[in-house]
Amino acid sequence: MDDLFVFTSFTTSNCYIVTPSLSDGISYVIDLPPDLDPVLDYIKKENLSIGGALLTHGHFDHALGMSSFDGSIYIDLNDEQLARKPEEQLKSFMGLNLDSITYQGELNEVKDIKSEELIVHSNPGHTKGSSSFEFPSLGIVFTGDFIFKEGIGRTDLLTGDTNEMIYSINNVFTEFHDDYILYPGHGDKDTVKSIKNNNILVREYLND
Ligand SMILES: [Zn+2]
Repeated sequence: MDDLFVFTSFTTSNCYIVTPSLSDGISYVIDLPPDLDPVLDYIKKENLSIGGALLTHGHFDHALGMSSFDGSIYIDLNDEQLARKPEEQLKSFMGLNLDSITYQGELNEVKDIKSEELIVHSNPGHTKGSSSFEFPSLGIVFTGDFIFKEGIGRTDLLTGDTNEMIYSINNVFTEFHDDYILYPGHGDKDTVKSIKNNNILVREYLND
């Protein structure tokens, strides 16, 4: 079993399964895209013990799989309404006109997770409840739509805020170790150091 499994959704969002400690063997799912079946199949095939799903934020391409996930779901509850009521996002993103598909299940506050393997960072800007998940034992961090290899998350969507994004880049992104691997919500991974040096938007906003 590998300590990291990557699945890219048809919506281009990345879903990850991470197993931070082989000693307890508990795995976490990072984000729940709409087409979750390959992820559920992998969990079943590998017979993984899932400690829960951690959502980087409430956008549909990271959260619409909630209804097919049979386990605890953790999210910054500032994004609860986004995650529960995706129909407004779906209309604006894809021009779809959908009947209400409100999610009625339980959502847990991600900052309440007690795990020595995990550090939860709050980085508002893309959405109010955007979070990053750091796993120190693996030297990796999952950033959702906060920081990408070659860009940053949009701030013009519901609850997005450019000033909060600038704050988060300068006060959260800068806390990540240079040699960590950053796994974003879309696109390829890269080291934190390389992103600091090469990501034009991050460079523009640092020390703004
Ligand atoms: Zn997003």
